[in-house]
Amino acid sequence: MQVRVVIGEQADAFRREFYPEAGLSEWNDWRWQLRNRIRDQEGAERIFSLSDDERAAIQARVNQLPLGITPYYASLLDRADPGQGLRRTKIPSLAEFEHGPDEVPDPLGEDAHSPVPGLVHTYPDKVLFLVSDFCATYCRYCTRARMVGAGEFLPDREMWEKAIAYIEAHPEVRDVLLSGGDPLILSEERLEWLLARLSKIPHVEILRIGTKVPAVLPQRITSSLLDMLRKYHPLFFSIHFIHPDELTPEVGHACAMIADAGIPMGGQSVLLKGVNDDAETMLRLNTGLLRLRVRPYYLHQCDPISGSAHFRTKTSVGVDILRSLHGRTTGYAVPHYMVDAPGGGGKVPLSPDYVEGREADYLLLLNYEGKQYRYWDPE
Ligand SMILES: *Cc1c(COP(=O)(O)O)cnc(C)c1O
Repeated sequence: MQVRVVIGEQADAFRREFYPEAGLSEWNDWRWQLRNRIRDQEGAERIFSLSDDERAAIQARVNQLPLGITPYYASLLDRADPGQGLRRTKIPSLAEFEHGPDEVPDPLGEDAHSPVPGLVHTYPDKVLFLVSDFCATYCRYCTRARMVGAGEFLPDREMWEKAIAYIEAHPEVRDVLLSGGDPLILSEERLEWLLARLSKIPHVEILRIGTKVPAVLPQRITSSLLDMLRKYHPLFFSIHFIHPDELTPEVGHACAMIADAGIPMGGQSVLLKGVNDDAETMLRLNTGLLRLRVRPYYLHQCDPISGSAHFRTKTSVGVDILRSLHGRTTGYAVPHYMVDAPGGGGKVPLSPDYVEGREADYLLLLNYEGKQYRYWDPE
């Protein structure tokens, strides 16, 4: 069978320079991408001119979130400039070792809301199922830095069985969100086993997969994967994107395949200082996602995990970005801005305030241009 290889110019030039031995079919093979990830100082030095800070951070890490970057995603990073936003989210810096006020390893209190290992039940009718601790590429601001990449193991059937038994015993659970670690790194066989088991539970109405794979390893989105997934509808994807530079031809091709398989895609971003914390970047990201049929869903405030202060903005920055989008562009391109309440309080939406107050029977409304309007709304 002839497989169409989609490769952008940037990635292709990168492949020829740094992986001259790899043909297009190898580059396009997701397992080749995983095997050839940049995982240590030597691998990073071969491609990037590391700053002293980055080098020291890579050397210093003990039992911390590992370094792991697919060759494909490395092709998007600036090889000379340690200040480039995308590069800062993938190559560690010493700032990760600074512990800011109110930072903790598990800010969302997930461990406390975990009835069985790997399952988080915070809300009434939905559960978060952490299926593995493995990701194709590790994000330095990861909410689950405490657990991902630790041993790069895949949880065994026994652990999954316990989580499934919990869901079976809780008829109020109608929505199961698979995350981790990245569920799309599982083999098709293991993932199908899981989806088949979950979809047989009568009260489970929808399945969701939270993933960054389409952005960091678009080669994983194969027709064989999608032929399997489409058997388990209604199935949704929440895809983690942070920057318009991630929307390459490869990613466009992967998203088209996902959409054509009938899987609705939501976009999830994290607001990151110096990476995407301005109105222009967010406009390009969110309108770019719509072109790929990905509906921007959440913009997350960066959670206060230990050593993440260098990424966190004030919440007013997020609110101002929403204000800049609302009314100026397609409503579909405006995500909800969410702050996770510390200790397991769940997600809280923050939004710009468009109500100025009341005047007798009128509500005073502000439109997107800041003009005031009186709306008849008697008590
Ligand atoms: C975010 C989250 C969900 C899913 O929330 P939605 O708002 O429905 O997308 C479910 N469980 C936990 C613990 C979560 O953190």
